[in-house]
Amino acid sequence: MHIDLTSKTVLVTGGSRGIGAASVRAFAASGAQVAVHCGRNLEAAKALAAEVGGGAEAFRADLADPAACRPLWEAVAARFGRIDVLVNNAGVATGAPLDGDEAVWLESWTRTMAVNLTALGLLCREAIGHFQAHGGGRIINISSRAAFRGDAPDYMAYAASKGGVVALTRSIARGFGKQGIVAFDVAPGFTRTEMAQDFIDQYGEAYASSDIALSRLTEPRDIAPMLVFLASGLADHATGTTIDLNAGSYVH
Ligand code: NAP
Repeated sequence: MHIDLTSKTVLVTGGSRGIGAASVRAFAASGAQVAVHCGRNLEAAKALAAEVGGGAEAFRADLADPAACRPLWEAVAARFGRIDVLVNNAGVATGAPLDGDEAVWLESWTRTMAVNLTALGLLCREAIGHFQAHGGGRIINISSRAAFRGDAPDYMAYAASKGGVVALTRSIARGFGKQGIVAFDVAPGFTRTEMAQDFIDQYGEAYASSDIALSRLTEPRDIAPMLVFLASGLADHATGTTIDLNAGSYVH
């Protein structure tokens, strides 16, 4: 089955690297116009937008700042007129030891929640309003296996933020389906990106790959096609669901 997203506009947050960058490539290859959001790596986002073409453009916003979310949405909407799909992919995974300084732990918790959950919620809020005015739309939120399985002690904040993403996504699906708005949660397992590299550096590659059922670690290109499929409309009756992409490491 060939998926054609021509004339669709997709905003991918955290499109400058990792899973987001692979998704930008996959959406563009399916014909979509892609808004490539970035935090710090504007040059990378611009280069990727130029590489994929099709009207793609880079947008910068620091999602640790709640005040940056609405201007990001408005800038993309002003440029493309209509946004059809929001992919909330940007995220951080910063560990903090439980037995260290409380202020350090709280700082890590607060930043994790700000980027992974608050910004994602604010962008969903903008998307819902926009989709209500334009006859519907699709939201794809990237959570994590950690939302269901839990994470290492140093990464409790990360797991908690991703649990929030799951509940938020289900609420949107239940609340706005009649208005043509659907929402999906995609929960990757360990995926080879810079984020995963930080974890591998700390815990070792064996720890990352010890429990997967497949023979190689998941790559960003193993995640991206699912996002294109969910954006296509072919899966709308699965609204509210979580798609696990964890190489069989946590089947629930
Ligand atoms: P990554 O390689 O570390 O890339 C993170 C992306 O998020 C970058 O594009 C980065 O933008 C953006 N970002 C981070 N902080 C930001 C901020 N304050 N403001 C704006 N943008 C910010 O991560 P990844 O592995 O591709 O992860 C993508 C998503 O998948 C995340 O939500 C992550 O939690 C989830 N996930 C990843 C794994 C994994 O093993 N890799 C597993 C489960 C879930 P800049 O580079 O431009 O700053």
